[in-house]
Amino acid sequence: MFHPELIERAARARHSPDAGRNPANCPALVLNADYTPLSYYPLSLWPWQTAIKAVFLERVDIVASYEREVHSPSLDMKIPSVIALRQYVRPSEFPAFTRFNLFLRDRFVCQYCGDPHNLTFDHVVPRRLGGKTTWENVATACAPCNLRKGGRTPKQAHMQLQVPPIRPTNWQLQERGKAFPPNYLHDTWRDWLYWDVELEA
Ligand SMILES: [Zn+2]
Repeated sequence: MFHPELIERAARARHSPDAGRNPANCPALVLNADYTPLSYYPLSLWPWQTAIKAVFLERVDIVASYEREVHSPSLDMKIPSVIALRQYVRPSEFPAFTRFNLFLRDRFVCQYCGDPHNLTFDHVVPRRLGGKTTWENVATACAPCNLRKGGRTPKQAHMQLQVPPIRPTNWQLQERGKAFPPNYLHDTWRDWLYWDVELEA
């Protein structure tokens, strides 16, 4: 015999692609208290356990949820898909210096020849000449350009950077990021990530 509630749940699962989703694939998008994403790059996502814990500690409000439920003896709860901090956190002006963010600044193309394949990183002033690993001294380069340049400066190698490397602000990186959206976006996230896209649609 099936419990009526189980049958009802199974029916809901069929109608909602979300309901059968593995909780491991149900991260929560974290918004600041002003309902803007806490961070874009990387996108502020918490695993479902962290999100639910924060709900119970009353640190966040639930803005939207997955259809997927988690069960414990005392409670059934839909996994939150969007949560907002109750206390405002001052965002940093500059994004983290990561490989992904550097590629994003450079639009995923070689800064010498524009090739989007076989990308690596080039120290503009080589390390052996005292060049540092910083936003201002590292540029995206394809492997052939990187090899050709070798341990020389662009001038010595007669190679020209298309754009001088800069330390981008979060806002600049966000602008770049619109052309490279993440692979996975839950429907409930879109309103909080790309409001201007919605307006243009
Ligand atoms: Zn190249």
